Amino acid sequence: MTTPNHHPAPAVLSDYVSGALRPAFATVVAAHLESCPHCRAAVQTLEALGGAMIEDLAPVSLSEGRIEQAMAALDQAGPEVEAHAVTADRIPFGPERWLAPGMSIRKAKVGNGEDLLYLLRLPAGQKTVPHGHVGTEFTTVLKGAYVDGEGRFAAGDFCEMSNDIEHQPHVDRGGECLCLIASEKPMRQFTRLGRFVHMITGV
Ligand SMILES: [Zn+2]
Repeated sequence: MTTPNHHPAPAVLSDYVSGALRPAFATVVAAHLESCPHCRAAVQTLEALGGAMIEDLAPVSLSEGRIEQAMAALDQAGPEVEAHAVTADRIPFGPERWLAPGMSIRKAKVGNGEDLLYLLRLPAGQKTVPHGHVGTEFTTVLKGAYVDGEGRFAAGDFCEMSNDIEHQPHVDRGGECLCLIASEKPMRQFTRLGRFVHMITGV
């Protein structure tokens, strides 16, 4: 498997390490870490930095600059480090719900269930309905690939969406696409089909 091309922002990794991410979002970051030695090494360094700072009891915050320095140092990083946390197959998903041929959803509840966490399966060549987002949404592609206005996202890639982004992902013709998605709120749907899907799935 090739290493991912799209990674969480340094601030997201530092929130992951400090425990500031809510469980659904931390789960999607963890899924990316499993296929990304670069971000695993960054997390390990951030954990070491955090530990050192606690030992020093110094009132230093992890500034963006400092994190970027750490990330830069890791570009020459050596051996692979252990994957952190959760694997997708350890997430407590509910039953698979059929939406259309080759398209299904499995929802999971983690933490107190305040956020949506789900696995979306889309068939090869499928174009989703155009939609927007409310609040933050994290996606890690687990299988296959899709293209949208932001680029091509293949297995292992991470994507953070926010309020201002509207898109219509298009799955590669070569095979189905499986995405793990955490979202604060359901998508903004502009089409009748999209509203119907929301009505039956809640996403
Ligand atoms: Zn990464």
